Amino acid sequence: MLDLRFDNRFVEELPGDTNPENRRRQVPGAMWSPVAPTPVAAPRLLAWSPEMAQALGIDVATVRSKAFADVFGGNALVEGMRPFAANYGGHQFGSWAGQLGDGRAITLGEVLGRDGGRWELQLKGAGPTPYSRTADGRAVLRSSVREFLCSEAMHHLGIPTTRALSLVATGESVVRDMFYDGHPQAEPGAVVCRVAPSFIRFGSFELPASRGELDLLRTLIGFCIRRDFPHLGGEGEAVWGDWFVEVCERTAILIDGWMRVGFVHGVMNTDNMSILGQTIDYGPYGWIDDYDPDWTPNTTDAGRRRYRFGQQANVAFWNLHQLANALATVFDSHDPLYAGLDRYVERFSQAERETVARKLGLAGYREDDGVLMKDLQALMHAAEVDMTLWFRGLMDVDPQAPTLAPLEDAFYDGAKRAHHEGALQDWLARYAARLREDTLSPEARRERMRLANPRYVLRNYLAQQAIDRATEGDLGGIEALLDVMRRPYDDQPGREAIAARRPDWARNRPGCSQLSCSS
Ligand code: AMP
Ligand code: MG
Ligand code: MG
Repeated sequence: MLDLRFDNRFVEELPGDTNPENRRRQVPGAMWSPVAPTPVAAPRLLAWSPEMAQALGIDVATVRSKAFADVFGGNALVEGMRPFAANYGGHQFGSWAGQLGDGRAITLGEVLGRDGGRWELQLKGAGPTPYSRTADGRAVLRSSVREFLCSEAMHHLGIPTTRALSLVATGESVVRDMFYDGHPQAEPGAVVCRVAPSFIRFGSFELPASRGELDLLRTLIGFCIRRDFPHLGGEGEAVWGDWFVEVCERTAILIDGWMRVGFVHGVMNTDNMSILGQTIDYGPYGWIDDYDPDWTPNTTDAGRRRYRFGQQANVAFWNLHQLANALATVFDSHDPLYAGLDRYVERFSQAERETVARKLGLAGYREDDGVLMKDLQALMHAAEVDMTLWFRGLMDVDPQAPTLAPLEDAFYDGAKRAHHEGALQDWLARYAARLREDTLSPEARRERMRLANPRYVLRNYLAQQAIDRATEGDLGGIEALLDVMRRPYDDQPGREAIAARRPDWARNRPGCSQLSCSS
C-alpha cells in the first residue's frame, strides 16, 4: 500500500480559506482553499517515473496496484493527505491578471521522501477548484503526456524542473477548442501527478501585495524562506534580501539551461515562474529544431512573440521586476531588491559565457568567443540548421582539417546550405583556429562538449507521435521516449531515429510546430 510520510506545512503554517464551498470566487486573505479532487470514471495508469517513485519510496508493486491509479487519478486519498488548491495571481502577457490560483491543480500533500527530500504531490487536471474561473479543471491526454515526458526529460538534462510521478487516464473525455479547426472536440482526459519541493510562484507574492494584504505577504515570505530556503537561516530583512538575491541567481541559471538545450517555455507569465528557479507549467512549450531566436511554440503569443526563444532572458528579468515590485511593499530598504536584479544580469552573463565555452568545447571563455558564438547563431538561423544536431556534430570536427562532413545531418534545406556554404566554411576555419589555441586535449574537449550538447531532446514531433499512438491505445511511444530521455547525453545504439532532425511532414503540423494555451 501507499505508505508515505506527510508533513503538510503549507496548509499548517499559512492562512487558508475559511469558506468550505468549492465554488469559483475571489479568495481574499488566504493562500489556499481546501478542496478534494473530483473522482473520475475509470482511472488507469499509463506511465510513471521510476526515479520519482524511488525518491518518494514507492515500490513497483504499489505503482502497479489499483490503489495507486485511484489515488493519482483523483479517486481516493490516503491517510495524512490534506488536499488544497493554492491561491496566487500573476502578470499574463505583460498585464496584471489578478487572482489566478490553481484552477485545475490540487495538491494532495507534502511528502518526506525516502531520498531525504521534501516533495509536494500535486494532481493536474483533478477537477474544479475555487480558482477554476470559467474552465473545467480538467486536462487532456495530449497536454498531460507532454507535461509528464518533458518534466522528466528536463530533469535528466540537468536543468531545474518540477518532476512528474505518474500519468493516469481518467476514462472520461474533455472538450477543447482544438486550435487547428477551431471546433470544440472531445478528447481523452488524463491527470498528471507533478512533484516539486515547492510550487510557490512569483505570482504567489504578487497577489497579497496587490490586495494590500501585507501581513499575509510577510507571512508567506517567512514561510517560503523557512521551508524552501532553510540554508539561509533565521529571520529579518537581511535574510529576506539574501533570499531575493538567490531567487534572481536561480532564475538566471534556469534560463541559461533552457538556452543551452533549445527549450522555449512559451508562457513565461509570472504565475508560471517558480520561486525555486525550476521550470514549471509545461503548456505550449517547444524545442528548437532549426535555430531561430524568434520562434515561439505558443499560438496565443504568435502575434507579439513576447515569449520567443531569444527573448527568454529578458522576460525572466521583467518577471523578477514584478516580483521585486511586490516585495517592495514590505521591504524597508529596496537596496537588496536592486542588488538582486543586478545579480541576475551578472549571473546570467556569467552562465552564458560558461555555456559558450562548454558548447564549443573550450577550456575557458575568452572575450571574442561570444562573437564566435553569435556569428554561428546568425549562420544557423540563415542556413536553417538544426541546433541540437549541429552542436553534437561539432564534436567530430577536426581542428587540423575542418569540414562540414560531420554536420551534414543538421541541414533542413539544401539550397540554403549551398547558399551559405562559404560562410559556414569560414566560420569552421575560425573555430578550428580557436581550438588549436586551446589547452584541452581532444578527449577532454569531446567529453566537455558531450555533456553540454544533448544527443536527444523532446522534439515537438516526437511528443506528438507518442500522443497519437497513446490515443490509439499504444503506450509504446511514451515508454520509448521516457526511456531514451533518461540519458540524453549518451549515444544510444538503436535509438538513432529519436535523435533525427524533424521530418518534413512535421514542419507545420499542429502539435509538431505550434500549440495553444488551451489544453
Ligand atoms: P496557465 O496558462 O496554464 O498558467 O494557466 C493560467 C490559469 O488558468 C491558472 O490559474 C490555471 O490554473 C488556470 N487554468 C488553466 N487551464 C484550466 C482548466 N482547464 N480549468 C481550470 N483552470 C484552468
Ligand atoms: Mg500556470
Ligand atoms: Mg498551464
